[in-house]
Amino acid sequence: MGEIHDLHCTKCGYGIKADTGIGMLYSPENVFRNRQFLLDLVDNTKITDQTMSLLKEGYEINEDYGHAIYACPNDFYLFDKFYFQLNGPNKFGPQYPCPYCQMTLERLTFAKGNPGTTRLRFVKEPKKYWHCPKCGNDELNEMAFGNWD
Ligand SMILES: [Zn+2]
Ligand SMILES: [Zn+2]
Repeated sequence: MGEIHDLHCTKCGYGIKADTGIGMLYSPENVFRNRQFLLDLVDNTKITDQTMSLLKEGYEINEDYGHAIYACPNDFYLFDKFYFQLNGPNKFGPQYPCPYCQMTLERLTFAKGNPGTTRLRFVKEPKKYWHCPKCGNDELNEMAFGNWD
């Protein structure tokens, strides 16, 4: 069961409504043995085809996969993207380009903010915090919270 996050900048209201995690139908068999299922999740033909062919070559699916919150490391716009990783001779993960500047989007994780607020930081660069692309503030309110399946 996944989580719903409705995050908004505490100052200007910029934000994203994102589903994170996986749904009931997201078994590895469904997601990675069915081209159309994966294509719907990643919404990118090149990534889907590359994934399918690496799986045929014997790459294995890392069990940590699901919808995640991403941001552009350059302009900090937020996106909801499907995360996964394949392990083989090399590691492979989807690389999503920012629609505004073409930089590769990076995954975010939750970090502590002041009471009642949350911050986001980059998974790969633990000291790099997200800030709002509109106003520069780095705190978010979570407007609603729930689960999806
Ligand atoms: Zn803002
Ligand atoms: Zn960008």
